[in-house]
Amino acid sequence: MPEDPVKELAELVDSLSEWLRYQRRQGWRGLPGEVASPPREREQPDAETLEEIRAELGDCRRCKLHAGRTHLVFGDGAPSARLMFVGEAPGAEEDLQGVPFVGAAGQLLNRMLNRLGLRREEVYIGNILKCRPPGNRDPEADEITACLPFLKKQIQAIRPQVLVTLGRPATQALLGTREPLTRLRGHWQRYHDIRVMPTFHPSYLLRFPKERLKTWNDMQQVMEYLADHEEN
Ligand code: URA
Repeated sequence: MPEDPVKELAELVDSLSEWLRYQRRQGWRGLPGEVASPPREREQPDAETLEEIRAELGDCRRCKLHAGRTHLVFGDGAPSARLMFVGEAPGAEEDLQGVPFVGAAGQLLNRMLNRLGLRREEVYIGNILKCRPPGNRDPEADEITACLPFLKKQIQAIRPQVLVTLGRPATQALLGTREPLTRLRGHWQRYHDIRVMPTFHPSYLLRFPKERLKTWNDMQQVMEYLADHEEN
């Protein structure tokens, strides 16, 4: 039995804290299997602001989609959102209004947010492409190459704790994978040090309402994670 068990415990805690601080300085990010949550402050002090990123895009003509657009759809929501959604590309209504997810799919997304107790203004919503592909076809490789760097800068500026990718094209483009959505959906992925939850696109859920429960369950995982990491 130690002479003073309280003092001994305090010393043990001190040395464990010191050891943890040392490991962090060495780049340790968490226990095996644990995904560390990103610090809320910007990790890179030189990350551009959303305004600067928008200014850099300007009257973008980096890909062929500029020719058919009414509005470039930059993104919408809180600049320091803890939760960010990544869709595919603007549709007809988004192109007209210059705001993401305002058409039928957007209304479903809004309803889902409401049921989760979230307001649209407290999350951020962006897309892989900022201009509408004709006939809402899938994004093409050259368009993704031109546009994705700007979404990545937006992610860097916002530093969300969780990214939710909506549908196959968004998920594959952001994660840089060709894995089918059926294998990724509902399972945590990572984009750098940010957790990513791939789920179905609301347009798909409008066509296949029976699948909504799966997306609901995916969002429960997201909400649980955010509730457990509120301090960050
Ligand atoms: N679908 C998307 O992927 N993004 C939008 O902004 C609207 C519909």
